[in-house]
Amino acid sequence: MNLTADFHTHTPYSHGKNTVLENALRAKEIGLAAIGVTDHGFSHCLFGLRRKEVSSLVGECRAAERETGVRVLVGVESNIRGLSGKCDLDERDYENFDLYLAGVHIVIKYETWSDSRLGWGGWMRDKLKVKPSARAVRDATTAYLNAVKKNPIDIVTHLNYQTHADAVEVAKCCRDYGTYLEISAKKSHLTDEELAAVAATGVRFVIDSDAHSADRVGDCALASEQIERVGIPLSQIDNIEGRMPSFRFAAFKQKM
Ligand SMILES: [Zn+2]
Ligand SMILES: [Zn+2]
Repeated sequence: MNLTADFHTHTPYSHGKNTVLENALRAKEIGLAAIGVTDHGFSHCLFGLRRKEVSSLVGECRAAERETGVRVLVGVESNIRGLSGKCDLDERDYENFDLYLAGVHIVIKYETWSDSRLGWGGWMRDKLKVKPSARAVRDATTAYLNAVKKNPIDIVTHLNYQTHADAVEVAKCCRDYGTYLEISAKKSHLTDEELAAVAATGVRFVIDSDAHSADRVGDCALASEQIERVGIPLSQIDNIEGRMPSFRFAAFKQKM
């Protein structure tokens, strides 16, 4: 499987090890046409990109693109901050970014105190190895659905990491709104059975490394293994074999 672009990489703007340029140089070395620089969103308490850093992030991405010839997209991995679907980017931020990812994380400023159960509840269940309640699944599903409906999100990252949504319902919503579901090559949070059911909805996929160091940029080994086991048609994945996704955020901005 030949990756065309890796849309989920981190740099020291969050807690990645290597610079934008170093990630782009690695992308060039392995023949990628594009990368997304997608550090954690503003509401992350420990590793979040700060609004005052955005102009220097943009400068580094444009400079790395000129130097390497690899398309370097200014992105963000926004946090889904609560059941309302609130994310990190406001419309005033849109002009600064090319690529909009979103996922559930802990150690963030949730929209309300009770929204903290979205990530922390899942984190606790994973630690204690207990099954999520019907209410927990309903709440997590609501958060993802509202996020996808209310924000022009390009890619939902690592679905069900530290939370437990109904993956099929989230996939149907992504399919209907033109949002990609990520197959993460860092770690899978869906069982083979869940991924098969998700794929059956017809949702479009991208494979991402979620690299936190340059040596992992473009690494899709773990995702490839699961895709092969599950038997997902490669035609359902839009960032391989020379293909590039058609992203929703860019189209949304053109109409603004
Ligand atoms: Zn993440
Ligand atoms: Zn990430």
